[in-house]
Amino acid sequence: MSILLEEVARKKLRHLQENHKKRELAGSVRYGNAALRRDGKTLVSFSCNDYLGLSQHPLVKEAAIKAVEQYGTGAGASRLVTGNHPLYEALETQLAAWKNAESCLVFGSGYLANTGIIPALMDRQDLIIADKLVHACLMDGARLSGAKLLRFKHNDVQDADRMLREQRGHYRHCLIITEEIFSMDGDIAPLEVLGGLARRYDSWLMVDGAHGINGGQYEGVDIAMGTLSKAFGSYGGYVCAKKAVIDLMKNQARSFIFTTGLPPAVIASASAALHIMRENPDLLELPLANARMFTRAAGLPEAQSPIVPLILGSAEKALAASAYMAEKGFLVTAIRPPTVPENTARLRFAFSALHRQEDILTMAEYVQNGIIWG
Ligand SMILES: *Cc1c(COP(=O)(O)O)cnc(C)c1O
Repeated sequence: MSILLEEVARKKLRHLQENHKKRELAGSVRYGNAALRRDGKTLVSFSCNDYLGLSQHPLVKEAAIKAVEQYGTGAGASRLVTGNHPLYEALETQLAAWKNAESCLVFGSGYLANTGIIPALMDRQDLIIADKLVHACLMDGARLSGAKLLRFKHNDVQDADRMLREQRGHYRHCLIITEEIFSMDGDIAPLEVLGGLARRYDSWLMVDGAHGINGGQYEGVDIAMGTLSKAFGSYGGYVCAKKAVIDLMKNQARSFIFTTGLPPAVIASASAALHIMRENPDLLELPLANARMFTRAAGLPEAQSPIVPLILGSAEKALAASAYMAEKGFLVTAIRPPTVPENTARLRFAFSALHRQEDILTMAEYVQNGIIWG
């Protein structure tokens, strides 16, 4: 008797369903000012990471269209073969300048960047210490590297210090990993203190800035990784570091080497987006200002970034709150384990420069009245 694969899949799905963890794809058409159509209904989206609305910007779209006309739709091969079209160099130069870095390399996505960068640097003789809440792809990269992986309490520099004091001496190299803005909590890492720890314990600091929208570089950061898929409104990942480190990535990062280059339109739109970001510093202030308008009106702790979590506990509760918000015309996705730790299922609000004040305040009222979880 053979076990049917389909049966096993059904059983696993049943288990997820019973725990309110089953996920479904919902068709979504995004357009205009942070609006989205789903199931025939128009919703104001507070679930997109397109913080500046650049995916819909006329100049960004135009750059993509031009690139298709000039270079076609696909890159044709890995960048190390024939996929390294001229738009790549322009973007990498622009990104390095924006981040005050010596050099930059673009990957296929943020996920591919993190799963490539870490194993290119670390191996079994090395130690990685990572914040407990870092993104899944940083964990995947750390595991792929084969290095010893330890996780310190979220944003707790004392815990990180203790770990380094006890463990650093047993390993060759050591990498400390954190995020600039935590993707599901919206809080900010103590980068300066972590940079100090890195120096004290002869370690390197890697920061995932996927949700960041500002240029510049924090002192003491050895590896600054980011994504083109969020505030840039495009797709792709990047890493900024010293030139030798970047050259090593080109030679050793498997997720860079063994995959096709990004389509010209994707790179051209990221370039156009970065140009707009650099020309419009005021635009970069708006997502946080909108998030703070919301937290003030809703009586929540002041937003530290454009991401605001509302922790509700059980997955069931978060799903019910999300369904309630959709009924009221707002898309606020429920975030459940394993994306976040058990019993911390939540609504995650992501604020954009394009949100209208009246929508923000109406939504805050629902939250403040406690209707959604009461
Ligand atoms: C979204 C995200 C990534 C992955 O970036 P993609 O370009 O979407 O693959 C990596 N790290 C963090 C912290 C993220 O939030």
